[in-house]
Amino acid sequence: MSILVLGGAGYIGSHAVYQLIDQNHRVVVVDSLETGHRQAVHPDAAYYQGDIRDKQFLDDVFTKEDIDAVLHFSANSLVGESMQQPLKYFSNNVYGTQVLLETMKEHNVNRIVFSSTAATYGEPETVPITEDMRTNPESTYGETKLTMEKMMKWCALAYGIKYVSLRYFNVAGARKTGEIGEDHQPETHLIPIVLQTALEQRKAITIFGEDYDTEDGTCIRDYIHVEDLIDAHLLALSYLENGGESEIFNLGSNQGFSVKQIIDTARKVTGKQIPAVSGERRPGDPSVLIASADKAKRILGWQPSRTSIETIIEDAWNWHHTHPHGYDGGAEA
Ligand code: UDP
Repeated sequence: MSILVLGGAGYIGSHAVYQLIDQNHRVVVVDSLETGHRQAVHPDAAYYQGDIRDKQFLDDVFTKEDIDAVLHFSANSLVGESMQQPLKYFSNNVYGTQVLLETMKEHNVNRIVFSSTAATYGEPETVPITEDMRTNPESTYGETKLTMEKMMKWCALAYGIKYVSLRYFNVAGARKTGEIGEDHQPETHLIPIVLQTALEQRKAITIFGEDYDTEDGTCIRDYIHVEDLIDAHLLALSYLENGGESEIFNLGSNQGFSVKQIIDTARKVTGKQIPAVSGERRPGDPSVLIASADKAKRILGWQPSRTSIETIIEDAWNWHHTHPHGYDGGAEA
C-alpha cells in the first residue's frame, strides 16, 4: 500500500515525503511542477508529473498504484496573487480538489489529510485562535481553502471519505540534513526574504508596517517548524487509519513573534547585519495571528519539539546559505 502525496515537489510536500520514507512508507508523488521542483522529490518515491484537474491522468495514477491514503498539498498559495487572479485559485484549488475527491470515490480511497490555513479565519476577534472560532477569509486564497474544507465535509457525509484538515500558521525552517528547503519564485515570505538579505541577494528587508497596535508596532505571527508540521500529518494519517472521525486542527506553536523579533533573531543566527527599512502596511495583513494548537495536541497527541524561533531560523539558514539560488543553483559547501 502507498501514500499518495499531491504536491510532493513543493516546500511542505517534499518534507512530508522525506519523513514518510524515513518511516518506511511507500510513497507516490504527484506534482505539476507549476511551483514545485523536480529535485525536491525524494529519489525513492514513485513520481508522476501532471495536474490534478486532469481526470484521466489522476485515474491512471490511482489505477497503477495501490493507494491507501492521500496527503493533499497541491494548491496555489499566494495571498496577493489570489486577489489578482481569483479564478486561477478557484480552478486549481477548488476544482482540483473536486476532481481528486471524485477519483478517490471511484477508487474507494477514503482517507485524506489536507493542508489548510490560518487564512480561513481572517482577522481574528481574539487570540489564540481556536478551531471553533468564526471563519471569515479576507483573501481568495483563504476562501478557496475554506471551500475545499467544506467540500470535504459533505463528501465525508455522502461517501464516507474521512478527512483531517490542518490549518497551518506560519511554516518555516527546513529538514536538518539540508537536502530540501524553501524555494519559492517569487519569494514572498518573511524568513526566506530576511535570509536572502543576509546573503546580500537583497539590499534590505522592507518591514510592512510599523504602526500596528503591538509592542514594537510590527505584525505578530506564530511560526512553526516544517518538520513539526509534518509530524502532525503523520499522526493525522494514523488517527484516520485507527477510525478517527473527520476533524479540523490548527497547527502553530501558541507563541507569537513580531517582524522585528524575527529580523533580530536572524541577525544573531547568521552573524550578518541584515539592513531593514520601514515600508507601508501590506493590504490584508492582520496585526496578530497566534494559534491555539491544544486540540491537535489533545486528539492527535502532537508534540512539536522544534518550537524555538532560533532553531527554525538556524535550520532555514542551513538550507539558504548552502543553496543560495535554491534548487537551480545546486548545493554549495
Ligand atoms: N513581512 C514583512 N516584509 C516582507 C515579508 C513579510 O514585513 O518582506 C511581514 C508580513 O507583513 C507579515 C509577516 O512578515 O506580518 C509574515 O509574512 P509572511 O508573508 O511570511 O506570512 P503570512 O503571515 O502572510 O502568512
